[in-house]
Amino acid sequence: MKTIDKIYINGEFVTPKGTEYFDLISPTTNEKLGQVLLGNPEDTRDAIAAAKKAFKTFSKTTKEERIQYLKNMQTSIEKRKQEFIDITIEEYGGTFQFATNSFEYMRQSFISAIELLNTYSFTKTMGQSEVQMTPVGVVGIIIPWNSSNGYICGKLATAITAGCTVVIKPSEMSAQQTQLILECFHEAGLPKGVLNIVNGLGEVVGAEISRNPDITKISFTGSTAVGKMIAKEAVNTMKRITLELGGKSPNIILDDANFSKAIPMAVAAAYMNSGQACIAGTRLLVPESKLEEVKTLIKNVVSKTIVGDPKNETTAVGPMVNKKQYERVQNYIQIGIDEGAEVLIGGLGKPEGLENGNFTKPTVFVNVNNQMRIAREEIFGPVLSIITYKTEEEAIEIANDTTYGLQAYVSSENHERALKVASQLSAGRVQVNKLGHDPMAPFGGFKQSGIGREFGVTGLECYLETRVLIQ
Ligand code: NAD
Repeated sequence: MKTIDKIYINGEFVTPKGTEYFDLISPTTNEKLGQVLLGNPEDTRDAIAAAKKAFKTFSKTTKEERIQYLKNMQTSIEKRKQEFIDITIEEYGGTFQFATNSFEYMRQSFISAIELLNTYSFTKTMGQSEVQMTPVGVVGIIIPWNSSNGYICGKLATAITAGCTVVIKPSEMSAQQTQLILECFHEAGLPKGVLNIVNGLGEVVGAEISRNPDITKISFTGSTAVGKMIAKEAVNTMKRITLELGGKSPNIILDDANFSKAIPMAVAAAYMNSGQACIAGTRLLVPESKLEEVKTLIKNVVSKTIVGDPKNETTAVGPMVNKKQYERVQNYIQIGIDEGAEVLIGGLGKPEGLENGNFTKPTVFVNVNNQMRIAREEIFGPVLSIITYKTEEEAIEIANDTTYGLQAYVSSENHERALKVASQLSAGRVQVNKLGHDPMAPFGGFKQSGIGREFGVTGLECYLETRVLIQ
């Protein structure tokens, strides 16, 4: 059993002043893996003070210096690739496939940041004036549990590119993953105070970050409900905010799609990261005339979807992160049944032989209309709703009839037609005939899926403040 009893402040592993412990429980077996000692508001203020002091010098570093730090960070994580994969599987219950992709995503964060530094100009001319893009200040980074080190790398790499210093609050459930990445970054030799990480609860450490006047910007990934609370608090000190929130992403299969290609891709989009993904394509919009064909194909694909031990390379759906998340998903399956939707495959309860972990059956509902709660609310588990449409216009209307707007998907054999449909969707990112990631293109949501963008130049500029010299 492991005890994580250190946080990271001013370049050192220190014992938090907080005295409360949180148990780390295996999602796969529900056995106790260890415990983490949580930080308190005082620890958070110490971390913010260290970041504030470091900002004075770090904000003045050259592009070359920042590139070197980013290279060192990349090298330090590459050395421990296998440990990252193992701990993501053990602590989070992420599948082997997810954990491997997640490591690649972490690595890519540094590669993309270096590319940005090599190409971005921090001084521009606009009108008659010189425009200076300057680091915004101390950034508070608050993240969820569903890709913990991926978020740390993405946000931290951008902050360093910009010349900002940071205080990070990961989920308390990710403490072992956090410990590993801290060991790497300590080895990378960042200047003292540039990186500070405080383990702790949202309403304690997260709340202090949101209210503290020395935090200039918050970069938050998490639920829409918590995002709203953070935004309300942040406005008191006029913090800049980037919010990456929830989603209920539509996946439009047009009538001319190759269904034997589009349906397996739709299942993969719905069940990625065991369904615990903000970008999961959880509303599958299919032509009414093709419903029977879709049902047969979906049943076939889902019945072959392997649920089980996340360590196995062929497992596609692992356990939910904790009992609470398992209960939440079960509750939504019950809501779907009560609303009159029909379970095509899956349903309530745990798959046979997997009773000890937080495993849920990959579930598909048909007879769903877009007003049902299972079609409107983010479930964050492997539950897919099939909704039928009659015309392309109706498909677009249903797709956009949501409070969210993070991601959408379109499939058609006619690429031009797919692009035309994609261009009418209220979503920050639309996957056209593929499932991909572009680390240099902006990512973020329309409507209640967030504010601002991450990645690429647009993402970088969310960490910069504009100063104009009129001369
Ligand atoms: P959450 O919103 O409950 O928590 C996210 C983080 O906020 C955690 O670190 C938590 O401790 C902290 N927090 C909680 N209350 C707080 C408060 N009052 N003040 C400050 N911080 C507080 O989300 P979760 O359950 O950890 O993660 C799942 C959610 O995250 C889903 O809604 C999902 O859609 C969203 N998400 C969004 C993206 C995206 O990029 N848009 C990516 C992944 C997850």
